[in-house]
Amino acid sequence: ESGEGKSTDGTPKQAVPKGVVLGKDGKPCRSCTSFASWAAMTKKNTSESPQTTAVHPQSIAPPDDCPPDVEALGRSTWTFLHTLSASYPPQASPTQQSEMRQFLGLFSRLYPCWTCAEDFQEWMRSPGNEPRVSSRGEFGRWMCEAHNEVNRKMGKEVFEGSRGEERGRTGWKD
Ligand code: FAD
Repeated sequence: ESGEGKSTDGTPKQAVPKGVVLGKDGKPCRSCTSFASWAAMTKKNTSESPQTTAVHPQSIAPPDDCPPDVEALGRSTWTFLHTLSASYPPQASPTQQSEMRQFLGLFSRLYPCWTCAEDFQEWMRSPGNEPRVSSRGEFGRWMCEAHNEVNRKMGKEVFEGSRGEERGRTGWKD
């Protein structure tokens, strides 16, 4: 989750504004933090009046020309990942399976929200959660489970496995 005052460098938690996640460099990590928390932090730093500092988490999002926050980055990434699984071969060759495993290993290490990346890597390492890439069907169900794992962690709705293909390729059934 977005976390509260997470830090890798031992900074006391109360030094970090609520909801703001620090990067490995000890500075606030934009792609790990929601825009609401980011806006609250920057407004606090400019000492505006309480009336103008009120931030409603559900009502604000980064402008289109700003770097994505953790939510915008996540939505775009899930779009990519579900589209990737929906366009995967119905029966994958050993080479295609190996390439996809390599991709997922690298993706889970390089994802710009490091707290998300670490949790995702840990989930992928757990018995039963290793990428299942033998076919489009299997991979789509695995991707849906992966997304559901993050949904669960964040207290969101969990999707049924078969809806992964609807999400990424055929569109929702009417
Ligand atoms: P999203 O979860 O982005 O989903 C977009 C749309 O996909 C939904 O509106 C729905 O239509 C559809 N959908 C939802 N679930 C499924 C499913 N199982 N299968 C198919 N379609 C589905 N954010 C954090 O704050 N903390 C984290 O630790 C974190 N970890 C992440 C790890 C990864 C690998 C990724 C890609 C993202 C992570 N995120 C994390 C971002 C988070 O998952 C959301 O993307 C973000 O909170 C925005 O959520 P959303 O409600 O708009 O919908």
